[in-house]
Amino acid sequence: GTRDATALEMVGVTRRFGGFTALEEVSLSIAPGTLHAIIGPNGAGKTTLFNILTGRLRPTAGRVLVNGRPAHQSPEHRRVAMGVARSFQVTSLFQDLTVRENVRLAASGRRLRRALSMWRPVEHDHAGLARAGEVLDQVGLDRVAERRAAELSHGQQRLLEVAMALAPRPRILLLDEPTSGMGVDDIPAMESLLARLAGTHTVVMIEHNMALTMRVADRITVLVSGRVLTSGPPEQIQSDVEVRRAYLGG
Ligand code: ADP
Repeated sequence: GTRDATALEMVGVTRRFGGFTALEEVSLSIAPGTLHAIIGPNGAGKTTLFNILTGRLRPTAGRVLVNGRPAHQSPEHRRVAMGVARSFQVTSLFQDLTVRENVRLAASGRRLRRALSMWRPVEHDHAGLARAGEVLDQVGLDRVAERRAAELSHGQQRLLEVAMALAPRPRILLLDEPTSGMGVDDIPAMESLLARLAGTHTVVMIEHNMALTMRVADRITVLVSGRVLTSGPPEQIQSDVEVRRAYLGG
């Protein structure tokens, strides 16, 4: 039915910081299995919106729904249980552990803590190890699985962040600028991963690379000064005069 038609929804979300309104009456509706990009100039409120979706920030007013269920009062860890995951940050990778060990930790966070509390060796966590193997294949890091995270290129580290987010099998994936800081040589691997994820997950991403966004997104929402300027398929956004004006600042 129509209730199931939305994986993630924001209804009239407003967020104030003191007297400043960073988001005003923002409504978004994201269909399951689509890739939805949020774009907009600096200061538009993209990060604030993202943090409200992940549960890091509460809205001042309005609602967030995950699969039709209210989520705006749920903290980040409860949203993970609802199937929502955000990509890890390079800064939270374990640089001295191997790529495989990083993903395994992400896959079995809870199981691993249980194993440690029972003084069982971590090696017995077969499920986490198996899941790590699957995810590394999926993101194309299988060939560097035994390297230390610190030895990866920046682009590979960004892929590892996504792999760690995918490890616990979320249905909804939130990606904050997946290609930021990447050299041109690293971007194709991320673009191809994003295109593949778009078929299997609901993805919401903030992204500055406009050409890539136009190629991989099913829908794009343009945020300007804390409001939704427009929302639609890439072809529509590309030809939108107001969008161009917002970016040119005229
Ligand atoms: P974007 O990610 O699009 O650049 P942000 O969501 O980071 O935009 O910021 C939107 C506006 O909200 C900016 O003007 C920013 O200064 C303000 N803002 C964001 N977070 C805070 C905060 N914690 N306290 C005060 N102002 C904030």
